[in-house]
Amino acid sequence: MTKKYEIIIIGAGVVGTASMYALSRYSEFKDVLIIEKEKDVALLNSNSNNNSQTLHSGEIETNYSIEKTKETKENAKLVVSYANKELSEDERKNVIQNCQKMTLAVGDNEIDKLEKRYDSEFKEIFPYVKKLDKKEDIARVEPNVVKGREENENLLALFTDNGYMVDYHNLSKSFMGIALQRDSFKAKFNEEVKEIKKTSQGYTVKTNKNEFLSDSVLVTAGAYSLFFAKKLGYGKNLGILSVGGKFYYSKKVLNGKVYRVEREGIPFAAVHGDPDITDPNITRFGPTVNIYPELEKGNIYSMPDYFRSLNFNEDTAKSLENILFDKTISKIVKENLIYSIPFIGKISFTKNEVNKIVPSLKPDDLKLAENVGGIRPQIIDTNKKQLALGGTAIEGDGALFSVTPSPGATSCLKEAMDNCLYLADYNEKRFYLEKFKQDLDYKL
Ligand SMILES: Cc1cc2nc3c(=O)[nH]c(=O)nc-3n(C[C@H](O)[C@H](O)[C@H](O)COP(=O)(O)OP(=O)(O)OC[C@H]3O[C@@H](n4cnc5c(N)ncnc54)[C@H](O)[C@@H]3O)c2cc1C
Repeated sequence: MTKKYEIIIIGAGVVGTASMYALSRYSEFKDVLIIEKEKDVALLNSNSNNNSQTLHSGEIETNYSIEKTKETKENAKLVVSYANKELSEDERKNVIQNCQKMTLAVGDNEIDKLEKRYDSEFKEIFPYVKKLDKKEDIARVEPNVVKGREENENLLALFTDNGYMVDYHNLSKSFMGIALQRDSFKAKFNEEVKEIKKTSQGYTVKTNKNEFLSDSVLVTAGAYSLFFAKKLGYGKNLGILSVGGKFYYSKKVLNGKVYRVEREGIPFAAVHGDPDITDPNITRFGPTVNIYPELEKGNIYSMPDYFRSLNFNEDTAKSLENILFDKTISKIVKENLIYSIPFIGKISFTKNEVNKIVPSLKPDDLKLAENVGGIRPQIIDTNKKQLALGGTAIEGDGALFSVTPSPGATSCLKEAMDNCLYLADYNEKRFYLEKFKQDLDYKL
């Protein structure tokens, strides 16, 4: 007789593996299977090359409301507590490292916005963040931000040396390693889920090689989560705007992360400059913003699936029109189209983006990183006909579909906690929430 699992997790990115870890450590579930189509965990958006490696704690995210800022701070703390509790010193440095962080305002408009944010509740939430309003103070922590800058270009920075960069691939590996210590927690790689079916007994999950049975499914398949949700009749009022991002590399010119003041109402981060956790000799600038009709970056086979999951109708058309013709978004899209043009693109990217952070860099100092950068699956709410800020989890009769744009990697353990709560509740099993919160110092 075919074995039946209690839970099947589809997709072993940082959210799927964090959920596997939380189930293994803090729940009564015994039989859990994770299925991943690639040969290892976290090779797509959660791979270190493909995201910005930032632990988003709310200090540098000027587009977050105060509520979201507090939530983000707490979610980020889960990753730090996890690393301190579960990993040896050697393991920890492959996963998470201290990294100074700065929000940089260039010119009077941005300075005004950043001043206002700092003077709000922000100061109480982040008492350790310093306001640097003199160029010589900024130069002390990031010399190349000031070197070569026009005299009359004013700057303001919020700065902390209490930040982190994370290798989310190695973090996922560590989650998986711990979860698989439990004999009845299993993983299958190189196996692609083709179909999920609801039956009277639970779920049948068909892959290109096998068929599995389970009571519940947790779909943490990036943008593909919505594709599967729609196939089962859920998430009808949602769509995805796939925002791809590329990075340029230069020699090391920054000591830490330098983020710009975000443009109003945009849910994805503006171009920033930062070190690479996997190579201390380089600085990365990006991500660019490119809208692709695909569910996975560079995977042309995911294009038809993108249109299937968009479920094109009048509401979707109106939503896309609102989003793409929004003044700020259309400006960003146009600028980034120019950045994609060979030769001219790099000149324009250097002048408009990189030189705002490091004025002295020349186009020849930058190299477009090959095969680097992922997709941020931004959620379109077709009822409200606008982009939603953050991710979503779609619930459906024992199935949960998680879509997590940035800062989804930072909040992987919070997502895992929520996923476990849903699965425990549906299956009438226990998830030891208090223990989870206590061990990982979670206060919300
Ligand atoms: C350019 C960029 C910069 C970013 N920067 C940051 C940052 O600095 N900090 C931060 O917190 N977040 C950042 N993010 C967001 C972050 O990378 C994502 O939120 C996070 O990686 C999502 O993890 P996930 O596990 O949900 O999805 P993924 O990492 O995409 O994992 C999904 C997994 O599902 C698998 N899968 C899909 N379909 C199937 C199938 N049919 N069968 C089996 N397996 C399947 C895939 O192979 C993949 O391994 C960034 C994203 C991008 C693109």
